[in-house]
Amino acid sequence: MELEFYGAAGCVTGSCHILRVSNKTILLDCGLYQGKDEKEIGNDGFNFDPKKVDYVILSHAHIDHSGRIPLLYKKGFKGQVFCTNATRDLCSAMLVDSGYIQEMEVEWKNKKRRRRGLDAIEPLYTANMARLSMYLFTGIPYGTTIEIFDGFKIRFRDSGHLLGSAFVELFIREEEKDEVKIVYTGDVGNVNIPIMRDPTILDYADYLIMETTYGNRLHDNLNSQLHRLTDIIKETFARGGNVIIPSFAVGRVQEILYELSKLRRNRELNNLMIFVDSPLAAESTRIFEKYSECFDEEAKRDFASGYNPLRFEGVIFTNSIEDSSKINKIQSGAVIISASGMCEAGRIKHHLKHNLWRKECSIVFVGYQAEGTLGGNILSGAKKVKIFGEEIAVNASIYDIEELSGHADRNGLIKWMESFSKKPEEIFLVHGEKEAAESFSNFAKEKGYNTKIMKSGDIIHINEGISRKKINSNSNLKNQLIKLLDSIDNIDEINKELLIGKIKDVIKKFR
Ligand SMILES: [Zn+2]
Repeated sequence: MELEFYGAAGCVTGSCHILRVSNKTILLDCGLYQGKDEKEIGNDGFNFDPKKVDYVILSHAHIDHSGRIPLLYKKGFKGQVFCTNATRDLCSAMLVDSGYIQEMEVEWKNKKRRRRGLDAIEPLYTANMARLSMYLFTGIPYGTTIEIFDGFKIRFRDSGHLLGSAFVELFIREEEKDEVKIVYTGDVGNVNIPIMRDPTILDYADYLIMETTYGNRLHDNLNSQLHRLTDIIKETFARGGNVIIPSFAVGRVQEILYELSKLRRNRELNNLMIFVDSPLAAESTRIFEKYSECFDEEAKRDFASGYNPLRFEGVIFTNSIEDSSKINKIQSGAVIISASGMCEAGRIKHHLKHNLWRKECSIVFVGYQAEGTLGGNILSGAKKVKIFGEEIAVNASIYDIEELSGHADRNGLIKWMESFSKKPEEIFLVHGEKEAAESFSNFAKEKGYNTKIMKSGDIIHINEGISRKKINSNSNLKNQLIKLLDSIDNIDEINKELLIGKIKDVIKKFR
């Protein structure tokens, strides 16, 4: 068996790793390169033949993990895509949206090309191509083990990063060899994020492919950040302004709505008007509502009681351009949540144009702002920015509460690994900038972990050298434990802790 690191190896976008086992080719994610990675690496080609890929196993719907699946399909991939049910539904909205963006970008580029006498170029893929590629998707519930082909089983466990996001457990048995378990983390979630469950504790991994986005960072306390958001809204309204929140449409919007629903319920802010001005945010909110069984206990309780914390009094989803432009007439008392998250495209630019120059307004960033983007420029203290070719003064108060991040920080990553019953043979570090991966690698090595920072093109052969005697001699016990672990997703938090404790005690005795 062979594991080749391809995308998001040495960077944080374009997630894609290639597993070759029993003459099958399996991709773990197939994401778009974005930002500087897109410029440096490009999204056009694959270094393998898409027609020869048998399966894609998708960790979650974020475009940097899923965004090249329609391109794979366009180039001849006819296999199956396995993911959780919620990921499949989110992809049906997000990949189509990504297709529209590709079409729009190319239309704009072609206008320029025509003026220069150059031939028109094609979009990477169209919205329709994305729609067609959805026929390849098969959704699987969390915790269900399925055998994809002889000797190759997979199971998804909640990684607490986005609705539907999963750690992928791969159980692989080749010919007469012992079973090897590889875990691919996708993105590891942060603890205590609104709506999301905390990342699932796994029992073990022989080999671990692990993300390191924030491997060199420690997050602030989330609660204090959310209190800050409340204060910002109160102060801005008292000054007679609006609060503008540029946000990614899927995940972050719903988390913010959930927090704002608490303010509303606690009567901390009356007559709160919240505009969610993004068609993708509206569609993904509907998908969140469909999968309320995947929420954490608190949000699940809210839904069970008949209260919908994503669609409460005062929340207005705007779809049409006309409704969107009506918001621009509101001078005060509105929270406007709009995409894109880094202010590079979409309706957020209109809201910034109307509010950024007003000193009574506030702009609250809730996600990563890459250097050189409009969001990045505002955050780094620019006094003036250009929006639709017009120079706009930055007079509004600017805030950054990036700590709402959906990624675990260094301690979160280590704590999650430490809950395994044994250390993995090797940990392959991916999905991190050089500094983050190196810092995390050193930190983990000090704790006795065998880590390797992977580069694109690195190939690892996995099939020998694992001491598996202990696990094999206790295979019955192992099976019982796996059954217990399977039931974890269906019990409440207190009993879950107790059950995990008991399982760990049993494992210790047999190690
Ligand atoms: Zn992600």
